[in-house]
Amino acid sequence: MQKISGIERITDNLYMIPGEGTATFPFCHSYLYNNDDFCIIFDPQCGRKQLKQAFDQIGKTFADLDIIINTHFHLDHSGSNFFLKKISGAKILIHEADAIALEHLDAYIERYGMENKEMEKDWRTFLKNFGFKEIIPDQTLKDGDIVPGDFQVVHTPGHAPGHCCFYKAGILISGDIDLTSPWIGNLSCNIADYLNSIEKLKKFRIIKLLPAHGLPVFENIPERLEAFQHRLLDRVEKTYNLLTDTPLSLDQITQLMFHEYPEEQRNRLRRRQAQFTFHFGKITCLNHLKYLKIQNRVKNITHDGQELWQKLNSD
Ligand SMILES: [Zn+2]
Ligand SMILES: [Zn+2]
Repeated sequence: MQKISGIERITDNLYMIPGEGTATFPFCHSYLYNNDDFCIIFDPQCGRKQLKQAFDQIGKTFADLDIIINTHFHLDHSGSNFFLKKISGAKILIHEADAIALEHLDAYIERYGMENKEMEKDWRTFLKNFGFKEIIPDQTLKDGDIVPGDFQVVHTPGHAPGHCCFYKAGILISGDIDLTSPWIGNLSCNIADYLNSIEKLKKFRIIKLLPAHGLPVFENIPERLEAFQHRLLDRVEKTYNLLTDTPLSLDQITQLMFHEYPEEQRNRLRRRQAQFTFHFGKITCLNHLKYLKIQNRVKNITHDGQELWQKLNSD
């Protein structure tokens, strides 16, 4: 992935702070909005060094921060909430559907659908190591609200139930609708909602799309949104094409889809990482299957206590 070198001025008051490394999990790009009245940060998980540089550049300190806005609950967006709130007392704003996942670690974990206690324990440790601490948001958002800085809340569920974009005069802070590769590895992801959300964004006049990962997009935005929808649908089709009239388990489908199996990894740490990768792949496939089931193209049956999936009609 191409790197963005430094803090970038988008408008008089809005700055992009490129995320640490390649701005991939557990980091993202942050957006800092600053005027005479207040200082706002969208998704502050860009990395401490970058954050400090950006505040230095606008002549402020972390203590001057007034508001933290999260596009959604994921750690790679919300991880620095606690740290910044402790220093500044800034208010935290997030959509009402994702507030619970910031308030309760159990609710956060539940959305990841970990399959055994050991994995769940590892995931809790990982979240804590990257700064997750339960925190009650000061304000919950809903579609159409206007947040300080005059950004309109555009509720765009799918990647997360409470995922929101923020729109103002041709600028869209788009969170994980980043036009790279749609991620749907949580139980709380929903493909139908995701497609509808992208459709909703197509109605906005977007000149600058500012994502949390990848590169800002300044050209062909309607076409790029359309391509993003297709990427999502192509993967659903890929899963569908793996199915036959013979019922398969979710593990079998995932292995066919991602060609990896955790047992093949020798080193313990790598094996653990592979287990997580496989798990997220499995949930991704499950979300594809759920979408195909709504379309009456697949069915699930229970055989010897195991859930199996097969094509409903061969077409
Ligand atoms: Zn996310
Ligand atoms: Zn993200």
